Amino acid sequence: MSRMELASCSSESLVCEDAPNPCKARGAQVNRQLISSDPVNIEDSSNDSLTEEQKKALESVLEALRSGDRDKVLRLFLKDQARNLFPENEHTLKWLVGTIGKAAATRLVVALATLPCFNCKSGLLECDNCNDGGRLENEFVCESCLGLGRIPCDFCGGTGLASVDFIPLGLRLAVFAVRIQNAEKRLLRLIQLPMPSAQSAVRAFHKRADLLFALNREISVLETAVGVTRDYVNAPRNLKGRITRIANEAVRIARKSEKRLTATVKAMLGASSLSIDSYPKGSNAHKLAVARTNFLGALLDSDPQFKGTYLEHKLLNETAEKLFSKKTRKAKKIEEKRYRN
Ligand SMILES: [Zn+2]
Ligand SMILES: [Zn+2]
Repeated sequence: MSRMELASCSSESLVCEDAPNPCKARGAQVNRQLISSDPVNIEDSSNDSLTEEQKKALESVLEALRSGDRDKVLRLFLKDQARNLFPENEHTLKWLVGTIGKAAATRLVVALATLPCFNCKSGLLECDNCNDGGRLENEFVCESCLGLGRIPCDFCGGTGLASVDFIPLGLRLAVFAVRIQNAEKRLLRLIQLPMPSAQSAVRAFHKRADLLFALNREISVLETAVGVTRDYVNAPRNLKGRITRIANEAVRIARKSEKRLTATVKAMLGASSLSIDSYPKGSNAHKLAVARTNFLGALLDSDPQFKGTYLEHKLLNETAEKLFSKKTRKAKKIEEKRYRN
């Protein structure tokens, strides 16, 4: 495969720009490349057009990459782009593959894809509305955090990962494609986990709430990826297919995972309902358990489900609806054509 062909693929098919080389089949090979730590020698690069300044800048980025300092990788990369040493457009990835090689370019993309948000821990912040207690005046559930005391971080959309504004423009599609793959892997594991149980209903409730946050975080990763594809309204033609694939993949995985999200809230409702009896009647804890049970029931009954809360992923839902109506229109056209013939 030539350098130019390699340039159109980074980690897997989602990152692949052009269809002729199905990267899916090379999954295992690609994974090895993701963890490869082979040093890259810029001097040996087949691209002789690099200036000394560019070579030096690339070497610094690779050094930071090798030492695992993801913050530094991003800082250096953005600084060098600002100095026009690296291209800042849809050709950035191709250029990188051509200069530092596919394995190193992939490692760079993966480093940026996993860079944490500087504002939160794993996508969550304490709820200011209730001072993380989950309740107001002892009897009312805090609607901001759904009574759980924590809310998704606004800065990163609850993903716990560096927000899109920090990711270099020319690498965004590749970075978010990797994030989708990572989210899918984690979601598959979360979906297969048995529903957390415990000897006490209160404990079971909290364990299920942790599962809910974990699921919601990954679904938020998928939603931010769809958000990124929306920014490419005037994308060049050769990128359109790749953008559509990324959005479709995010929606497909999210739909599957949202069922588990609903099941988890139902299980939390069950635990909350059982916990009522563990408190003396008339106590604040008893009143709160009743309020929480009613609140969760209303959340599940709302239309759309979880309406107006951080569990409602509007952008994903809208995109899923568009996809569905597009598919229906296509099927209708085929049916009409068949009828006419
Ligand atoms: Zn709150
Ligand atoms: Zn954050």
